Amino acid sequence: MKKKIEKALENIILLNKKNIMESGFVKKIDILSNKIVIYLSLSNPSLHFKNKLIKDITHSIKRKNILYPICIKVEMKSESCINIKTRKTVIKNIIAVASGKGGVGKSTIATNIAVSLERMGFHVGLLDADIYGPSIPLMFNINLDKEDFHTKIHKNGMIIPVISYGVKILSIGFFSKNGQAIVWRGPMVTKVLRQFIHETDWGELDFLIVDLPPGTGDIHLSLLQEIRLKGIVIVSTSQKIALTDVNRSVEMFRIKSIYVPIIGIIENMSFLLTKEEKFYFFGENGVKNFSKKMNIFFLGEIPMLQEIRKYSDLGTPVVLRNEIIKNIFLKITKNIINQL
Ligand code: ADP
Repeated sequence: MKKKIEKALENIILLNKKNIMESGFVKKIDILSNKIVIYLSLSNPSLHFKNKLIKDITHSIKRKNILYPICIKVEMKSESCINIKTRKTVIKNIIAVASGKGGVGKSTIATNIAVSLERMGFHVGLLDADIYGPSIPLMFNINLDKEDFHTKIHKNGMIIPVISYGVKILSIGFFSKNGQAIVWRGPMVTKVLRQFIHETDWGELDFLIVDLPPGTGDIHLSLLQEIRLKGIVIVSTSQKIALTDVNRSVEMFRIKSIYVPIIGIIENMSFLLTKEEKFYFFGENGVKNFSKKMNIFFLGEIPMLQEIRKYSDLGTPVVLRNEIIKNIFLKITKNIINQL
């Protein structure tokens, strides 16, 4: 019977073309009098992957006419953390913040989620990978010119992130003069981003938030294939033109060879608060309806508030200045953690 089960497991082929036996996922098969117990050890942390595997295993064994109850026990290998060069560096959860369009508030939200996590007691890093508009230095009021950056940040070949409001920050913007365009080709950007992840002294992090460029491009593909993301948080406004682009992003994250779980979607600038009513500038519930249609968890809505714009411009994370906004972000951040 064990041989038959092993044969059934060999029929389950992973994206890397290996079957789950070859991949070393199957640690033990116990055939008991009343059930079969299969012990798996997985390094891929996504829940979706785990559930799909359990379903595939059950089907494959049943197809071999083995009709015993099957119990599958899954243990996550600690390798689901990234162990990088310094050995000290362990990043437990890498989460990317993405959007279809630019200007929908992706960096603002990445900033305030990072600070909310830090205030909750987590060790947090923020990596600004938005080559087209690296705004994280502005949002934290970090003003480094190129020379300073080299002398202050490189040490023993490792990049040392800047710490602001308790968050470790690294931005592609640190490599250009303020306001100057970054005109690197795709492979160059990918190389730098790889360094940002693998050759940076992040220390121990509970969360690394990656602020992705908007849209779907070269950089996304290489980054998504390079690093093991826990998931993606999508930000959008509610108008059709933004949602059409988000749809493209979702399709990209769901391509089989890329597959990154989407943690959820945030509706930004949902409404303006006038004295008497909420004014839905971009249309009501656009993102909420989209999330239902695409089967994506709705993480929450953020109103359009002058304070958010004001504090972004001042370089202070708004969650540290306004109680109402702090609570909105806290709720969204807790939703993200729950989804993980
Ligand atoms: P993206 O990263 O998507 O390009 P940003 O985060 O840079 O967008 O935001 C674009 C502008 O919109 C910034 O000036 C920011 O302060 C402002 N902004 C973002 N979200 C809000 C909001 N909810 N209310 C008011 N202004 C906002």
